[in-house]
Amino acid sequence: MTFRADDTAPGSEQNASLAARLDEVLARLDAAAERAGRDGREITLLLATKMRTPAEIAAAIELLRSRDRRVAVGENRAQEIAKHADPLLADNGVPRHFIGRLQTNKARDVVAFAELIHSVDREDIADALERRAELAGVRRDVLVQVNTSGEESKGGFAPTAEAVAPIVARLCASSSLRPVGLMTIGANTSDDEAVRASLHGLRTLRDEVREQLGASELTHLSMGMSGDLEIAVEEGATIVRVGSAIFGARPA
Ligand SMILES: *Cc1c(COP(=O)(O)O)cnc(C)c1O
Repeated sequence: MTFRADDTAPGSEQNASLAARLDEVLARLDAAAERAGRDGREITLLLATKMRTPAEIAAAIELLRSRDRRVAVGENRAQEIAKHADPLLADNGVPRHFIGRLQTNKARDVVAFAELIHSVDREDIADALERRAELAGVRRDVLVQVNTSGEESKGGFAPTAEAVAPIVARLCASSSLRPVGLMTIGANTSDDEAVRASLHGLRTLRDEVREQLGASELTHLSMGMSGDLEIAVEEGATIVRVGSAIFGARPA
């Protein structure tokens, strides 16, 4: 099925502002990549789709594809997975990720939905995902979530090799899960240097654990959102997760 953004998006005016916001995000991303000697096109732009309609998501995907970008969609609520089966989104070939806090009783839905799960933040989540992937006869890529900011509201393993290496080693030994990197939500502050320290820390930690375990498949760093994507790209993000800077402020 071919899909044209102009046909199905909420309206051409909304579409024009979506395109303007999206191009601004791409300009920010490319400028940061250039400062870091990287190519912005190698960085996956994951659309954080919570609270967004299939039409909005489909329009953003179409725009990113027409700009020759690596795109993924990331849902963070198990209750919203069903909307991705909408005809506007089904079978569009866009990789689907899960980025939100996981509950063990939702592991089956998440395994069915996502090819990459960003938010393994506790041992029992790894157990539940592994069991569900085994039962479904599939293999899933996962990222280990790390709490680099120390903020209590955020999930994740402590940002030390002592805390992260054991869970990565446990995932490396799994036949149904494959650890491919680390994920974090940056510090919630306007202090850029604090944000940079927390994102830089994720990269150092990834390098340290990769070397310690000889886990060459730890290639990904999922970090950077609407407010801190430049810093994340400068610090080595391979996937940035962007919602409001593209779709506009979330509906209340
Ligand atoms: C919502 C969300 C994002 C995107 O946040 P914005 O600030 O809207 O870009 C990224 N990561 C996770 C885990 C999210 O829940």
